[in-house]
Amino acid sequence: MVWEGLRGMGRERFDDDCELCEAAKISPWFHEDDVCWIAECEACATPMVVWRPHGIDPSEQDRLHMLERLEAVATEQFGEYWLDDNRRSIPGHWHVHARPKGKFYGF
Ligand SMILES: [Zn+2]
Ligand SMILES: [Zn+2]
Repeated sequence: MVWEGLRGMGRERFDDDCELCEAAKISPWFHEDDVCWIAECEACATPMVVWRPHGIDPSEQDRLHMLERLEAVATEQFGEYWLDDNRRSIPGHWHVHARPKGKFYGF
C-alpha cells in the first residue's frame, strides 16, 4: 500500500525496505490518523507511535500531535511511562516508544 494524498499534499514518502513502512500494513493499531499510527512494537511489546511518511523530519506540529496521541495510549496501558525516542534499529523513520516506568532495563 502506498500512502498517497492523505492530506492533499501529494505523495507521501514510502520505503519498501523499511520495517516501519512495512508494519503499517500488518500491525494491530491502537490509533491511526492522517499524521501517525500507534501500534505495539513487535520487538519490544510496548506501544510506539510512527510517523506516516518515511523520514525523520516531522514538523513541530506533527511531532507534538504524535506525542500527544502516544501519551493517551501509554497512560491507558501503563499509567506511568517514559518516552524513548532513540531510533536504534530503524534510524531513517521517525518513531517513539512508550515504555513502562521502571520496567525496561538498560536505559
Ligand atoms: Zn520496539
Ligand atoms: Zn519507513
